[in-house]
Amino acid sequence: MGNSDAELIEKIIDLKNRRNAIILAHNYQLGEVQDIADFVGDSLELSQKASQTDADVIVFCGVHFMAETASIICPDKVVLLPDIHAGCPMADMVTAERLREKKKEHPGATVVCYINTTAAVKAESDVCCTSANGVRIVEKLADAEQILFVPDQYLGSYIASKTGREMLLWPGFCITHMRIQPQDISRLKMEYPQAKAVVHPECRPEVTALADEVLSTGGMIRFARETEAEELIVGTEIGIIHRLRKENPGKRFIPVSEQAICPRMKLITLENVLWSLQEMTPEVKVPEEIRLKAKKAVDKMLEIG
Ligand code: SF4
Repeated sequence: MGNSDAELIEKIIDLKNRRNAIILAHNYQLGEVQDIADFVGDSLELSQKASQTDADVIVFCGVHFMAETASIICPDKVVLLPDIHAGCPMADMVTAERLREKKKEHPGATVVCYINTTAAVKAESDVCCTSANGVRIVEKLADAEQILFVPDQYLGSYIASKTGREMLLWPGFCITHMRIQPQDISRLKMEYPQAKAVVHPECRPEVTALADEVLSTGGMIRFARETEAEELIVGTEIGIIHRLRKENPGKRFIPVSEQAICPRMKLITLENVLWSLQEMTPEVKVPEEIRLKAKKAVDKMLEIG
């Protein structure tokens, strides 16, 4: 007979304490996984948390590049990703090899990589950014001759529009945010005329143009808390709705699309979190040579962003 959720949770907490582990979960995780985490946040908040913890083990409930980022920042800790197949399709749209070729075509360009990239791609980049600090980072690169932004063309074009910087954009995109369509936002705005629409900058420009606010998931959590609006139309992966509702019981949250589900984020379950803590696997460890180069891009982000 299998474990009930209550039994699973009890076992996870017990093992977590015995292993001196911390559980970090992204805002897109399944509700029950968010609920057992020590900290839930966006990529930037999670990497900051990883850098501050004195735990020996980090159980990363998110996707592969996030676990790699934790390994880049904390080489002495064991970083576990409960399902090793939880990769980000967008991050896989650029490889270190293809990026090196592109850099040869644009030798003077400063490479800004979205945190949604492999460690090997970060190692080929000058500075990293997240959706929360991308605009700030690019603003700080005033002296850069040319900027090459990888891999998300939509986040890149959003940052370009906000900063007035022309940038070379890699043609990557998030398969999940592509499911968020402008006509769905328009329809919901008619249906809920008092609602504010918040969307993620990974959405297409036709979508961000219709939003009241374009925010990272961490930004959405803060906005929902602070706004006087009682209804929010939410254009991002629907895992965030769990946290928004939990933290703001008096407000109404309407997802733009029930189809905006990231299949890779949903690979992490209570079962594999427990298994991962029991077996201390699968471990994500970035080789030292790549780690040192990638760390420069991450450190630069933490320093200037
Ligand atoms: S939501 Fe998009 S960007 Fe985020 S992990 Fe999934 S595919 Fe990657």
